[in-house]
Amino acid sequence: MNNKMSFKKGDYVLVISGDDKGKKGKIVSIFPKKMQVIVESVNFLKKHTKPTQNVPQGGVIKQEGALHISNIKLICNKCNKPTTVKREKIKEGKRVRVCKKCKEIIDKV
Ligand SMILES: [Zn+2]
Repeated sequence: MNNKMSFKKGDYVLVISGDDKGKKGKIVSIFPKKMQVIVESVNFLKKHTKPTQNVPQGGVIKQEGALHISNIKLICNKCNKPTTVKREKIKEGKRVRVCKKCKEIIDKV
């Protein structure tokens, strides 16, 4: 099983399934062990907060929930299409991600 995360913080991704299908956003956090990411402004979950002195009735805050990486696709910054990345090229000693569609190197080296 390939359990390497092919996503990085700052990647622009498209949600391909679930309630937020079709939404795009930037990855703000990644959880490699769970293979999950948090995408900016996507998959908002309502969280109830406990009543406090200032807000005695309690409140609801919205917070982005984690998405499994199988639900997102990277948007290539070269061809601008949702794509699958291949980790294959080595450039200047670094492994870089390559877009399967346009074969361009996605990462800046
Ligand atoms: Zn591409």
